[in-house]
Amino acid sequence: MASDPRLAGLDLAQAREGLLKGEFSSLELVGATLDRIAETEPKISACLSVLEGSALSEAASLDARGPDPSRALWGIPVTVKDVFLVRGAPSTAGSRMLEGYMPGYEAEVVTRLRSAGAVITAKTNLDEFAMGSSTEFSAYGPTRNPWNLARVPGGSSGGAAAGISAGQAPGGFGTDTGGSIRQPAALCGCVGLKPSYGRVSRYGIIAYGSSLDQAGPLARTVRDCAALYAAVAGPDAKDSTSSNMPTEDLGTLNPPEASRLRFALPSELWEGKFDPAVEKVLSAAKRLIEFAGARLETVSMPSLRYSVAAYYVLAAAEASTNLARYDGVRYGYRSPSGGDLKSLYRESRTAGLGREARRRILLGTFALSSGYYDAYFKKAAQVRRLIHDEYARTLESHDFILAPVSSIPAWPFGSFTEDPLTQYQLDIMTLPLNLAGGPGLSLPAGLGDDGLPVGIQILGPAFREKALLEAGILLEGIFPRLAAPPLQAR
Ligand code: GLN
Repeated sequence: MASDPRLAGLDLAQAREGLLKGEFSSLELVGATLDRIAETEPKISACLSVLEGSALSEAASLDARGPDPSRALWGIPVTVKDVFLVRGAPSTAGSRMLEGYMPGYEAEVVTRLRSAGAVITAKTNLDEFAMGSSTEFSAYGPTRNPWNLARVPGGSSGGAAAGISAGQAPGGFGTDTGGSIRQPAALCGCVGLKPSYGRVSRYGIIAYGSSLDQAGPLARTVRDCAALYAAVAGPDAKDSTSSNMPTEDLGTLNPPEASRLRFALPSELWEGKFDPAVEKVLSAAKRLIEFAGARLETVSMPSLRYSVAAYYVLAAAEASTNLARYDGVRYGYRSPSGGDLKSLYRESRTAGLGREARRRILLGTFALSSGYYDAYFKKAAQVRRLIHDEYARTLESHDFILAPVSSIPAWPFGSFTEDPLTQYQLDIMTLPLNLAGGPGLSLPAGLGDDGLPVGIQILGPAFREKALLEAGILLEGIFPRLAAPPLQAR
């Protein structure tokens, strides 16, 4: 079937309008995005599996019953990061350990997407078990940035961001443990929402750091992110950490009056060293916000200085326990060369897990071991509390916190793979929010002189996603709009 390539470039809202008006069918839309995937994958490698057969047959069966306006995502193609379990589709989490794993059940997010009428078209690439910031730690090879194929797309949800930016789908889902939705969105010129911890069910999502992991959408506009988020947010009895708080009604989103808004700019994040191209876009963005009438006020949040250290202790500790299940017996790759039980564990885990995952397991196990628990884990948990309280205090006097997402643009492959500490430091802009637990929205602030997108993020009080999205709509209207990426060779 020859598809209309223009359909693949549509935003979610435009696609919905066309579907409901009967201008094109879900099969045509899904077909066009699958064709775009086939055309762009040789360049960007954003997908670990493409669910072509099931996607086309689901779209056809939706079409057979005609457009259903009561379902918010009716007929819309959506991707999910390869940590979301999808029945009948491989779920690897970017690891050799789970190569060939076919889950027998489905993530709650996926179930809710389907009941809203979405069609899952692909499972996107990521750093192994979502540990990383560049997608270079995927066992299946890195994803490339559509804005410059010699650069990383960010991570860990790099496949999701690169695919959306390249027109493979109007939207998709990722997870954000320490920035993995917001940072790749920024580096690929998309919008990404990390919802409040407990707002979106973690049921059926392969875990990394369970007290920090949160699923959320990436898309090309804030309103599209809102539609995807609204379809999945809300209590779920199958996830004991899911909040019972009722969800807000996102039916109508009205941007606030700019002159009423006060943004807090933490000096600890704004006063560091920035790449000049990034700095220029961020300064212009701040001027545009002020010109629109909002107030920007510098504040100090001193504990943010300790956020990288605290996060990497807590996240590694949780990862070390979550990944203990991959022992080659109950789960995962089993080494054929194992002799006794201990060597079977050792051989299977050494061959099945990549370097970064093993580093985190060792780090986390050490931090949790007796004698060190108080010095590392307990101290990190105390810092987490301080950061949480500082956030809450700052948001009592300000509507939102405004922060950069990354101090540098998408970097060349290999820049930090041998220097994990420097790469961890780069996460300073995004990690604090996960420690605090609230929602954050990353959106494009403009294009740098180097031709690479630059993102900015707004962070708000827990469970107030609606106000955050409305403020995002306001900023999106103020900032320059990005064109489609060139997908150039270098
Ligand atoms: N880059 C951070 C890490 O490596 C965050 C990853 C994420 O949010 N999943 O842990």
